[in-house]
Amino acid sequence: KSCYDTLFLSSTSSPHATLTWKTWAPLSVKFFMWLALQDRCWTSERLARHGLPHSPACVLCDQAPESMQHLLIGWPFSRTVWHDIFSKLRLTVWQEGVQVADGG
Ligand SMILES: [Zn+2]
Repeated sequence: KSCYDTLFLSSTSSPHATLTWKTWAPLSVKFFMWLALQDRCWTSERLARHGLPHSPACVLCDQAPESMQHLLIGWPFSRTVWHDIFSKLRLTVWQEGVQVADGG
């Protein structure tokens, strides 16, 4: 048991681990979430950080530098998807977060 515990001495736990790994999503989606939450996807921003060839602007919209935040939140298509999801859930998105919409 002590040998097994030693394997995890230098490991760190992620606050998003449960959200990422304990969901019904397919493994490929879980893996993408895990990479995205750690900002480890190969976006242009990350390629630039590693000194690798990259596009100066997002190849999808050419409106902003390509980063995980842009792809998941700022890209016009993803904003539309989030809007549709929150609308179905009857939630309103504010700059600071999400608020339950007044259903009327
Ligand atoms: Zn874009």
